[in-house]
Amino acid sequence: MGGYGLWWTGTVLGFLVLVPGILGWGKEGHYAICKIAEGFLNEDALAAVKELLPEFAEGDLAAVCSWPDEIRFHYRWSSALHYVDTPDFLCNYNDSRDCHDSAGHKGRCVTAAIYNYTMQLLTYQDSISESKYNLTEALLFLSHFIGDIHQPLHVGFTGDEGGNTIIVRWYRRKTNLHHVWDNMIIESAVKTIYSKDLELMIEAIQRNITDAWYNDNRSWQICANNQSTVCPNEYASESIHLACKFAYRNATPGSTLDDDYFVSRLPVVEKRLAQSGVRLAATLNRIFSSETKFAEA
Ligand SMILES: [Zn+2]
Repeated sequence: MGGYGLWWTGTVLGFLVLVPGILGWGKEGHYAICKIAEGFLNEDALAAVKELLPEFAEGDLAAVCSWPDEIRFHYRWSSALHYVDTPDFLCNYNDSRDCHDSAGHKGRCVTAAIYNYTMQLLTYQDSISESKYNLTEALLFLSHFIGDIHQPLHVGFTGDEGGNTIIVRWYRRKTNLHHVWDNMIIESAVKTIYSKDLELMIEAIQRNITDAWYNDNRSWQICANNQSTVCPNEYASESIHLACKFAYRNATPGSTLDDDYFVSRLPVVEKRLAQSGVRLAATLNRIFSSETKFAEA
């Protein structure tokens, strides 16, 4: 699995509070997404990313893609930015209706956060010293949130907090549905299909992107209007549809999820990891392109 996951246990971020399971794709998921994205960055984006990464990342974006989860209890304001809840059983996303935090503050959700950090990063060309934003943090937040928004239950129902309150068994282990989608499906896949090696899972997804999903991959990269730098509302709509069709289905409170659920949902998880990696790269490529800039985030 390489050195992922260990870097941050040092003293750099001494205030880390780890509460696995309620945080968005687990560490493996975010690592995979950013590893996939790194493979699709163009020269301009690669140079900008390397310049903005904190030193402890040692040049590897994937190593720091879970950072927003590690600091979310330190940066309390950022907690609501990892997800967006939608009305129960409607199975659609509406930005003006849904993008707010639990106290009702508008714009405090993952889609708005993606727009915000994209806008901040677009000031990179103005030269780092002039930007009034912390572009290192903006890069880490954007990379993380583009991952989170692709986890179907990060755009789940309000009543069950995106599956967090739906207690189920994953094989024999008691957990909740949100955690199954953040961690368990990926962990079980690594363990049973990929010889306990996350890198092998990433390689398999990369092969699919350039092979079986080749045509999809090109359409994933662009937004429906073909003009925006990033389009989180589209990603959110896809996620809530997938949540209804795959995540919530046959996963009622108290149910045991095992082989049937695992085998039928793993392809969905792998495709979402692929899509978020490809889209993160395409977004960073557009942001840091030294040629034509898109006016609108
Ligand atoms: Zn998260």
